[in-house]
This record gives sequence, C-alpha cells and structure tokens, in this order.
Amino acid sequence: MARRFFVGGNFKMNGSVKAITDIINGLNNAQLDPNVGMSGADCFVDHNRESDTVTEVVVAPSALYLMLTREHLRQGIEVAAQNVFDRPNGAFTGEISVSQLKDAGITWTILGHSERRVILQEESTLIARKTEAALNGGIGVILCVGESLEQREANKTIEVVTAQLAAVAERVKDWSKIVIAYEPIWAIGTGKVATTQQAQEVHYEIRKWLASTVSQEASENTRIIYGGSVTDKNCRDLATQPDIDGFLVGGASLKPAFFDIVNVKR
Ligand code: PEP
Repeated sequence: MARRFFVGGNFKMNGSVKAITDIINGLNNAQLDPNVGMSGADCFVDHNRESDTVTEVVVAPSALYLMLTREHLRQGIEVAAQNVFDRPNGAFTGEISVSQLKDAGITWTILGHSERRVILQEESTLIARKTEAALNGGIGVILCVGESLEQREANKTIEVVTAQLAAVAERVKDWSKIVIAYEPIWAIGTGKVATTQQAQEVHYEIRKWLASTVSQEASENTRIIYGGSVTDKNCRDLATQPDIDGFLVGGASLKPAFFDIVNVKR
C-alpha cells in the first residue's frame, strides 16, 4: 500500500493573532494540489489511503492560536499542537491535556522536537509517555528524532535515532497513528539541509529498525518525514527518495514557499 505524503508546518513560538490569521487566509486561498487533505474527521482514521498523490497537510501553531486556527482554516488541513502533557487533568500548571486538544478539534501533536529535548530538557522516557497518552486519547503523533552534529561526526546517528525510537516502542505497539520526523539538529533553522543521500540513508535505517523492532507492517506503512531547513528550492529532490514520505517544515511554513512544498507531489 502506498504511503500518503505528509507535510507538516511547525510555526514554533512565532506569530500574533494578525500574523496567524494572515497565514490561515493564505492557506485557505492558496492553489493547493487538489489531492491535498481529505474531509475533516476522515483524516485521522485513514492515514494510509491507497493513493500516492494525496498529500496530508497539518499545521502546528503555538497553543494560544490552536482554536483560532482550527476555527478558520479550511477543512482538509488538520491542526497539530506542538506539545501535550501525559496526565489527563489536574494540578499541572501550564500544561495542556490530550482531552483538551480533542475538545478543541485538534487531531495531531508534535512530540520530541529537538527544541524541547535540548532546551526544555525533555527526556525520551517522558516523550514516550506523552506519545502513549496522545495515541490512547485519539491524537496522532508527529514524533521527532534526530542527532546533533557531534553525534553525526562520531558516527552515532543511527544509534541515537533508534534509541529515541526505542523508548517509544517500549510503551507503544500500534504505530499506525505515528508519523516519524527525522530532524537532524544541525539542520534545524540553520539553512544547512541534509543531502538527499544523508536523509534517505537515515530514513532507510529507521524503516529497517521498524521492521526488526515493531513489525513488518509498521515498517511498510509508517510515514517517515524529513525536517531541517526544507524550502521550496530543496524539497523536490528530497521528495524523490523512496523512504522520504514528506516534510516537517519550520521557518518556511510561515511563508508562501510552504504552498510549493505542499504541492511538491503535484
Ligand atoms: C522544525 O522546527 O521542525 C524545522 C524543521 O525547522 P526549519 O525548517 O526552520 O529548519
């Protein structure tokens, strides 16, 4: 079965009511691939529809703008949180629960972004608990993994990435609602994109790891997307690789270039 191409936009801690509204209006009016998205609720239940021309699009504004985005964004484009907590409710000041996301019509969350792993010191075990909670509550997970420059130079890329994934595999058996985002830290927001070969190599190794650790089915069906300085200029080559099933886009998702990235399979 063909894996559906997936493009996520991570707005990070950027924007204002006006700026986010402008982005929403831009997406609503853009000439997107007619195959983009599907009608609302279907999106979550059928991640792996049998067509390689359909691109699934998900945007992740900061928490404050999630509801605004969901309310005004066109149907067929889903909205993701950038994080979620693993407890159902209670005295957890500053956190947002899975059920609160669902209540607000949010169907995805990013987890394990390197900015949270490094700056907020989130460990793989916490990310695994959050992943389990999100999936149990019916929220899809864009699970980010990736190595630092020092780790790459020490030939530890695959070891690091598979250890990050293994923490999740200890708690989660069903990977059908996980999209893995391979994001080398040295490529995020730096303008240094991984070469198509570097990205394809790691994606291939992740697929091999899925086959040996999770299941053959997970290896064949899980989308593995690339993130790290993706632009409208470099996305086309990356998208030709057999194990690259889409992109997680940071900086360029705030610009009209995002439409061209979404349309890369057109
Ligand atoms: C990201 O934040 O997930 C990302 C890939 O950022 P950028 O595209 O700006 O490198």
